[in-house]
Amino acid sequence: MTTTKTSAPATLSIWDAAHAADARRPRSTQTQLGASDTICSRRAGYILAGTERTNTAADKRAAILGTYIHNGLLEDARREYGWLVERMVADTTLRGHVDVVQLDAATAARLPKRHRPVHPAEVVTVEDVKTKSSRVWDRVVRYGPTAAEMRQVLLYADLLRTVGFADIPGQRYLHRLGPVNVQRIRFRFVCRDTGEEHLQEFAFDEWLAAEARWWVDRVREAESPEQLRRDHDGPGLSAICDNCPFVYACWAGAAPGRPAQTVLVHGDADRAKALADYVRAHERYREAKRVKELSRAILDDSPEGNYGENHLGWGGGNDKEETDVAAMVEQFEDAGLVVPMIPDTQAMVGVLRRAGMVVPRRKAAGQKTARTIKVSRARSRP
Ligand code: SF4
Repeated sequence: MTTTKTSAPATLSIWDAAHAADARRPRSTQTQLGASDTICSRRAGYILAGTERTNTAADKRAAILGTYIHNGLLEDARREYGWLVERMVADTTLRGHVDVVQLDAATAARLPKRHRPVHPAEVVTVEDVKTKSSRVWDRVVRYGPTAAEMRQVLLYADLLRTVGFADIPGQRYLHRLGPVNVQRIRFRFVCRDTGEEHLQEFAFDEWLAAEARWWVDRVREAESPEQLRRDHDGPGLSAICDNCPFVYACWAGAAPGRPAQTVLVHGDADRAKALADYVRAHERYREAKRVKELSRAILDDSPEGNYGENHLGWGGGNDKEETDVAAMVEQFEDAGLVVPMIPDTQAMVGVLRRAGMVVPRRKAAGQKTARTIKVSRARSRP
């Protein structure tokens, strides 16, 4: 059945509504630089320059789901624990919404009683809640926030330490606190697929905050976005670029049918550098592949479990399935369909699928799916 915008409501895609609402959210139309825009220097430059967002076809479904989960969790934490959530911070060059601010007892005591948190923190803490897919979960647990995520939270914390909460309706009682002495930043990662929660905390570091400020200043000083670094590898190689609203402006100029990255070549020196990078990367890859294959072979008969910092798991090794041709012939005969003289499995499967019928399957005698190694960070011991 074809789904169109003019169909009956039941056949509309729910994503049409989600995308329309997403397009109206402030971050989709803003031209002022927000702390969350610091994912890429050039992208920040395009935002400041008010460049038109021409990539409107990006698949935003995962990001929209992340926003729903994020908003739901924060709202419940606000209601149940009295956390300060989604509070605005700003100065003359930067603004943003801090996910969570947890006040210590001394600072909370300066608020009207009804606004005090249920559980004050040991020290004033700025928290960022990030939802992640299970595809990247192991990397998140091992290596923590990316440089851009760290920069964003440092900027929030720095705005709170230098200015305090913004003077806007709904948070004037917070603004009256003045600059707030943030001592700790915390990342709360939540896996979108399993709900697993992982915390990482850092003491606030003034030097790192100054570095984040310096990053913003460099962006603001640039005369055009094109003077700024592309911090990601471009369409087809980076999901951030694939979903960037400025991807066409950023990577314009490639010959039709050629990768966008070909615009990075301006002469033989660029070719020489790319070739040298290729050779170096190939050598590292070859050595890494050898080590992985050797380690995999060594571990082949080891049971699952924690070993040192890592957890060893095994997947696959299940019975393989194949199309049950005899059952399919019976199904054809029952349905009054013509069975080919020599059964053509692929064509018959196609007929059943088009008719909306189940294709019969059976275990493939003596065949197993490939056994796969699954390595993750060691789970906490019982
Ligand atoms: S396309 Fe990629 S490199 Fe270019 S501005 Fe966007 S995120 Fe940055």
